[in-house]
Amino acid sequence: MQKKESNKVAIIIGAGPAGLTAAYELLKNTDIKPIIFETDFQVGGLSKTVNYKNNRIDIGGHRFFSKSERVNSWWKEFLPEQNSNLNPDKIDKIFLKRSRLSRIFFLRKFFDYPVSLSFKTLFNLGLWRTIKITLSYLKIKVLPKRQEKNLQDFFINRFGQELFNTFFKYYTEKVWGIDCDKIDASWGAQRVKGVSISKAISHAFKNILKLNKNKNKIETSLIDSFLYPKYGPGQMWESVAEQIIKLGGQIYLNHEVINLDISKNNINKIYVRDIKNNKILEFNSDYVLSSMPVKDLVACLKTGVPEYVFDISQGLLYRDFITVGLLLNNLKIKDNWIYIQERDVLVGRIQIFNNWSPYMVANLNNIWIGLEYFCNENDYLWNLNERELVNLAIKELCKMGFIEEKYILDSTVIKVKKAYPAYFGEYKNFDLVKNYLNKFENLYLIGRNGMHRYNNMDHSMLTAMQAVENIKNNIQDKSNIWHVNTEQEYHENRA
Ligand SMILES: Cc1cc2nc3c(=O)[nH]c(=O)nc-3n(C[C@H](O)[C@H](O)[C@H](O)COP(=O)(O)OP(=O)(O)OC[C@H]3O[C@@H](n4cnc5c(N)ncnc54)[C@H](O)[C@@H]3O)c2cc1C
Repeated sequence: MQKKESNKVAIIIGAGPAGLTAAYELLKNTDIKPIIFETDFQVGGLSKTVNYKNNRIDIGGHRFFSKSERVNSWWKEFLPEQNSNLNPDKIDKIFLKRSRLSRIFFLRKFFDYPVSLSFKTLFNLGLWRTIKITLSYLKIKVLPKRQEKNLQDFFINRFGQELFNTFFKYYTEKVWGIDCDKIDASWGAQRVKGVSISKAISHAFKNILKLNKNKNKIETSLIDSFLYPKYGPGQMWESVAEQIIKLGGQIYLNHEVINLDISKNNINKIYVRDIKNNKILEFNSDYVLSSMPVKDLVACLKTGVPEYVFDISQGLLYRDFITVGLLLNNLKIKDNWIYIQERDVLVGRIQIFNNWSPYMVANLNNIWIGLEYFCNENDYLWNLNERELVNLAIKELCKMGFIEEKYILDSTVIKVKKAYPAYFGEYKNFDLVKNYLNKFENLYLIGRNGMHRYNNMDHSMLTAMQAVENIKNNIQDKSNIWHVNTEQEYHENRA
């Protein structure tokens, strides 16, 4: 049996799914003591639940679904799944089994998701649009493919010009804030399975044209049932954090890692700012597992970083995110979320939190929703204040005909930086940064922004699990951590 190490300390940066998983796995499988530093006042990272007067917001809507049995059983260790003996009305720590319903709102009409070949779909699109889309789809099937220099080429090659113009172009640009012809084609290759509207519509049109050979294959993006903690995703991560503390780990909230000391090929010390008391603290580190954004991590290294590594890392881009929470006394919609494809509003998606879990809202008679806006830190939307954002959200909801102003009871706004690591900008040179950071023997990059990769919760957790296994077994080569999520399956609720 592997001899356990002792008296060693692993510094973990970030108390999101990756950081918490790493800490728990270290405690369970080694004698290394994990110490987590987290800037926020709560755990969960992007998967936290924000509590506003007992009305809970999930940033983005987090489905708990994984193809990894290890992750599924890990989750259920913390929150058992509801069944005839486990009634969520009586038990707080529990996973609800939920069905997915999400539709696309376009042309002031609802389209089924996945789009079904029904009279309703054709009626909604109109005869002329359907003919144009069908003809342009047929065109790409017979003509030679265009060279794929960017995402626009990628989409057109697969779906045709008209389908691209109708469904993909505007929405993708809303999500990313840049034109599709500025986004690398490789993004499409990685993400198209998860590009929900794309997938849904291509399925429908392939069905129309009888070109769909894989009708029975269930795509991850189309999963229609999932687990969901009674009080939102943060409940999972709060439960994990509780266990970590019980097992002897430490979690410092409101503590920001600001500097890492390099000595030869190791990080031997880290400096942390205690945000509340504005004090700088110093900690020795035998191991460092970082889930903080790569851009910020490199900036924390300060000395010794080659100029090219610094420049590339500072050129990594992100997309930021705002949720406007609105409490309503009326709204009859059964979807978990709705994709807003309309071009005369800025909102990208609407979450109906009651439909994720009825326990997300303080008063069951009210409806608690989140309007989601994609933006860039310091752009027009980001710089709007809370009142302005709430007014915008209300105006847009009224304009689309969802509500009347008199339905509004309360509101709040959450701004989230670096929700999406971008696959453009300096991303093309990312391997140079990755290779540089991988050279530090005791530094492990884990998670989503920690690896600048589109990792879901399960992928983020698996990178942490792999890092801990490498530490335990003294494996220096970190490539197995980077292989997690290279199968390119995806289920985040996106465009
Ligand atoms: C809109 C949206 C929808 C999503 N939907 C799903 C879904 O349905 N299913 C799913 O599985 N996943 C989903 N995800 C992805 C999921 O949120 C992430 O995969 C997961 O939260 C990543 O975990 P992480 O620990 O790697 O990173 P994070 O959650 O980002 O956590 C990193 C933590 O590090 C902290 N930190 C950063 N810098 C420092 C510093 N200098 N010092 C200390 N702490 C620091 C941050 O505050 C943060 O808490 C979604 C994400 C978004 C944005």
